[in-house]
Amino acid sequence: MKTKTLLATVVLGVSCLLVGSPAAQAPKKQRTALMVWGGWEGHEPKQCADIFAPWLESQGFKVEISHSLDAYLDLDKLKTLDLIVHIFTMSDIKPEQEKNLEEAVKSGVGLAGWHGGLGDAHRSAVEYQFMVGGQWVAHPGGVIDYDVDITNPGDPITKGLKRRFHMKSEQYFMQVDPIVDVLATTTFSGQHAPWIDGLVMPVVWKKLYGKGRVFYTSLGHVAADFDVPEAREIVQRGLLWAARVMGDDPPKMNIYAPLLKKK
Ligand SMILES: [Zn+2]
Repeated sequence: MKTKTLLATVVLGVSCLLVGSPAAQAPKKQRTALMVWGGWEGHEPKQCADIFAPWLESQGFKVEISHSLDAYLDLDKLKTLDLIVHIFTMSDIKPEQEKNLEEAVKSGVGLAGWHGGLGDAHRSAVEYQFMVGGQWVAHPGGVIDYDVDITNPGDPITKGLKRRFHMKSEQYFMQVDPIVDVLATTTFSGQHAPWIDGLVMPVVWKKLYGKGRVFYTSLGHVAADFDVPEAREIVQRGLLWAARVMGDDPPKMNIYAPLLKKK
């Protein structure tokens, strides 16, 4: 009887050891993000990074923050990341930095950003713009009152948000890639540029570049813009989507294809 009890104790003990050991249960890899901020100070890149870096950490990410585009020089390291957040308005990017960023995203690393930090960075880097899916060209009237309409309320990035919300900020007019999957838009009043009266422009989109998910919103001229709860929520969800924490790859968009059927 004593032997049996001892045997049972030993078996139980060994089982416990096995369950708790790495061989029995591989530890989950911690998600990693790299946030690279810099460029034109008017967009408050550091203040914006200071909003979303701690938030990503609260979601379980290990976040590395860099104030230099040289953070892109180690391609092997970049490829291990889940997410790159690029905040670098109007700066030059060196060919090697740009190429590595693009190669990392092509390999499957997510890319996310907002306003000019992603959508008006590196104006002469056309492959970079091909990756982002759009480029800022104007904000008629500067900081003005405008509305944002959620046009795809079924998407995990926009689900449950107010269908229309207000911004007092720059209303971005962008040159947009026809491949992007648009989730929200804004409509120009024509007050500051009469020829675009009634024009509907994307404000939030997602797309692929190679295997990498790319999320962009034109919201976020300054950090205070993220005091608008919808603007902040859209970015937070966009970061998670780009890092493949949630949602699916975007559908294949081809917005001009229907024109071929017109006679
Ligand atoms: Zn701006």
